[in-house]
Amino acid sequence: MDAKEFREFGKAAVDFVADYLENIRDDEVLPSVEPGYLLDLLPKEMPEQPESWKEVLGDINRVIKPGLTHWQSPNMHAYYPTSTSYPSIVGEMLASGFGIIGFSWICSPACTELEVVVMDWLAKFLKLPEHFQHASEGPGGGVIQGSASEAVLVAVLAAREQAVVSYKESHPELSESEIRGRLVAYSSDQSNSCIEKAGVLAAMPIRLLPAGEDFVLRGETLKTAIEEDVAAGRIPVICIATLGTTGTCAYDDIESLSTVCEEHKVWLHVDAAYAGGGFALEEYSELRKGLDRVDSLNFNLHKFMLVNFDCSAMWLRDANKVVDSFNVDRIYLKHKHQGQSQIPDFRHWQIPLGRRFRALKVWITFRTLGAEGLRNHVRKHIELAKQFEDLVVKDSRFEIVAPRALGLVCFRPKGDNEITSQLLHRIMERKKIYMVKAEHAGRQFLRFVVCGMDAKPEDIDFAWTEIESQLTALLEEQSLAARKAGNVADLTQHFQIHLTTDNVEKSQ
Ligand code: PLP
Repeated sequence: MDAKEFREFGKAAVDFVADYLENIRDDEVLPSVEPGYLLDLLPKEMPEQPESWKEVLGDINRVIKPGLTHWQSPNMHAYYPTSTSYPSIVGEMLASGFGIIGFSWICSPACTELEVVVMDWLAKFLKLPEHFQHASEGPGGGVIQGSASEAVLVAVLAAREQAVVSYKESHPELSESEIRGRLVAYSSDQSNSCIEKAGVLAAMPIRLLPAGEDFVLRGETLKTAIEEDVAAGRIPVICIATLGTTGTCAYDDIESLSTVCEEHKVWLHVDAAYAGGGFALEEYSELRKGLDRVDSLNFNLHKFMLVNFDCSAMWLRDANKVVDSFNVDRIYLKHKHQGQSQIPDFRHWQIPLGRRFRALKVWITFRTLGAEGLRNHVRKHIELAKQFEDLVVKDSRFEIVAPRALGLVCFRPKGDNEITSQLLHRIMERKKIYMVKAEHAGRQFLRFVVCGMDAKPEDIDFAWTEIESQLTALLEEQSLAARKAGNVADLTQHFQIHLTTDNVEKSQ
């Protein structure tokens, strides 16, 4: 393909994406394909001769698009949002166009220095403690990782290596392998699966401590666990707290966890993959309490900052602890400016050697939307979640399960888990909206998250109409079946809910 053809193909692709995103409401959010659909549609070998890009783009529309789950649709309410925006898409395209791999400063000074700039911009925008900025006096700074999972793994590995070194110093009689065999880490049973996985990858057990009834992990629970482990000869290494758990967006108590971690010299990492977006808002300043005492934290720009996947910000209070743990050099990686302050070689801050020019899409997005645009985006999601919560609260057939947090509402139809499952099953079959279930203390519930590139109040009304009308239909079917079986009374008791829409409280 020459530059002329590239111009044509690229322009057609931009039009294709703009049409896709503009008309995304026209498609069902979930695809209607069966497993293996694409394997049957595509040839078993790559083409021997080149094909025209027009044919390829035609096939993208014909066979790829029907197999997409539309994450940018405002009818997506499962998981947390995976954001994107037009400027970010352009940034991604330009970064691919430059085709650089910025593992050290000399490999593309702009890649490293732009990352330093945007990470400091972001730290200020989120009102993080100053020591996380590259521009601060100390050894702190931020880096862009691919995902929250990678950021957590980096923190876990660095904390592990630091613990091994310092324990070996204080206990020279122990061999390194004896020390490694005693290491232990902590998180809450509400934390994301990536934390458990980091423990597996780091070959270090992570104890998932019970969160309270309110889904919050507190210092006293951590303290008890650490004391038990120390008494048994184990070595506590790191606690990974969460601000905005995946299930209910609960916020662990960072202040009390910090106190325990400081006392026991345990690294404290905060996973704020989603809820970090709230740090930017003055009305959510409570969320930032205790962050001045943590060792590291991560926040996914690809969840809440209109930057497309993959883009996960990570800050370290002392980046040297990561660099010292991961520094593996070769003569061909050296350059004459290495080690100078303000120009980090980010390869030492991450797992792979190569690194993408992610800072470009961040910079373009931040500049074209501005801090105000980003804050408005977070506020809009919060407003839309409130709109949904109000609708749930007004319908006495439903109950709220956990306090609404940012753009997440956790709710369920009253009654046993079976009705929640059946309602979700119906909704998933119809494919108009997409939600997932979660469970706490044996109770299943539905998570409704505001997602999509451009969600609007009418999208929330659309989703609510779908949910409540499907519950009505489900209950009518159940009622009919029960009447046929002659046991309406039993069924009513079973579901503990009202069977007619007359009973729905529409008043405040
Ligand atoms: N942490 C939390 C709290 C999450 O909600 C998620 C995903 O939703 C993750 C981590 C994993 O994020 P990633 O896919 O960026 O690894």
